[in-house]
Amino acid sequence: MNFKDYIRVIPDFPQPGIRFKDITTLLKDGQAYKAAIDAMKEKVQHLEIDVITGPEARGFVVGAPLALSLGVGFVPIRKSGKLPGETVEAGYDLEYGKDRLALHKDSITPGQKVLIADDLLATGGTINTTINLIRQLGGEVVGAAFLIELGYLTGREKLDGIEVFSLITY
Ligand code: IMP
Repeated sequence: MNFKDYIRVIPDFPQPGIRFKDITTLLKDGQAYKAAIDAMKEKVQHLEIDVITGPEARGFVVGAPLALSLGVGFVPIRKSGKLPGETVEAGYDLEYGKDRLALHKDSITPGQKVLIADDLLATGGTINTTINLIRQLGGEVVGAAFLIELGYLTGREKLDGIEVFSLITY
């Protein structure tokens, strides 16, 4: 399946100059969505994974089905102020804007092998922050898996030492 055919590119969203990769056109197609998750599973199933974590909101759409299909747990990373328990938090810059992410302190135990999942790797800021939060809790990041990688933003180079898996590259 050519997954790129299912991604809609919307120019100048959310601000001028950004060519937004819209995955909703893939998600609404049951066959394409399942095939994409199956293909991601194939890329990461050689890894030893205890738990998958993904940042709100599109990281849930990719990470949760991947976790179910691998038979491991899912840990949500949320925007600051949303999680009810004690959290670790970190701020970061996005391709467009700023954000702050939070993770429950007891969501990852020291030594657990963690795979990060998200819809898209752009500058790598989101995933770098995610890596820092996981490491603060003593988790070991075994890889990062994406539906889409924007190769021209070279985010991969910022994730030093982390194996990156992506299905579609622009
Ligand atoms: P990064 O932190 O620069 O790597 O940006 C990645 C984050 O921004 C991901 O969580 C994406 O959901 C979001 N993002 C950035 N660009 C796009 C896009 O073109 N389409 C969908 N999401 C995007």
